[in-house]
Amino acid sequence: MSRAQGDLRQEVVVAARALDAAGLMPNKSGNVSCRSAGGFLVTASGVPYAQLAPEQVVQLPLPAAGEPETGPRPSSEWRMHAAIYAARPDVAAIVHTHSPRATALACAGRDLPAFHYMIALAGGAVRCMPYATFGTDALARYAVDGLAGRRAVLLANHGVVTVGTTLQRAQAVAVEVENMAGQYLDLLAAGLAPRLLDEEELRRVIAKFEDYGRLGAG
Ligand SMILES: [Zn+2]
Repeated sequence: MSRAQGDLRQEVVVAARALDAAGLMPNKSGNVSCRSAGGFLVTASGVPYAQLAPEQVVQLPLPAAGEPETGPRPSSEWRMHAAIYAARPDVAAIVHTHSPRATALACAGRDLPAFHYMIALAGGAVRCMPYATFGTDALARYAVDGLAGRRAVLLANHGVVTVGTTLQRAQAVAVEVENMAGQYLDLLAAGLAPRLLDEEELRRVIAKFEDYGRLGAG
């Protein structure tokens, strides 16, 4: 393992542990990855995040050709990560969670509309894509399609995927989408209809975020 790759593995571990500690990765669900030389590094399948070690972050090539024959098994969603990296040269890191509030919304098949300006972190209203079985190419295609022009997508009856130019940015979008999903569910539970921001205002906020460097190049 090169020194640089060791550092990247450690970054993946740090991100996964932080998301787990924040309650966004219940019961070993979710996975985290980032681009590396020749491919990407993704968390192993079925390892409790508190025990995740850099050695349990699995290197896969791009284009992905299958699971490695030895060593820890990569996350069951490695196809989804590979498909997103192939489709989105601007993406260098991916976070997938079953975070409770966003997943509740996804289980109702509902989009997250542009009701708060922080939705600009996701690039605009977050689509909810149709259900497909976990780990399949069909789910990977839905994730790619739903992420078009966005940094987040809801997967029906499943969870959330967020992307970024860095692990920290993908992680920040995951936290914010969970936060906004909670606010949106609170509005719905109160019987209130949120007032939505229009496209012009969204573009203005996105431009301001770019000025502040919150979105990065992607
Ligand atoms: Zn999942």
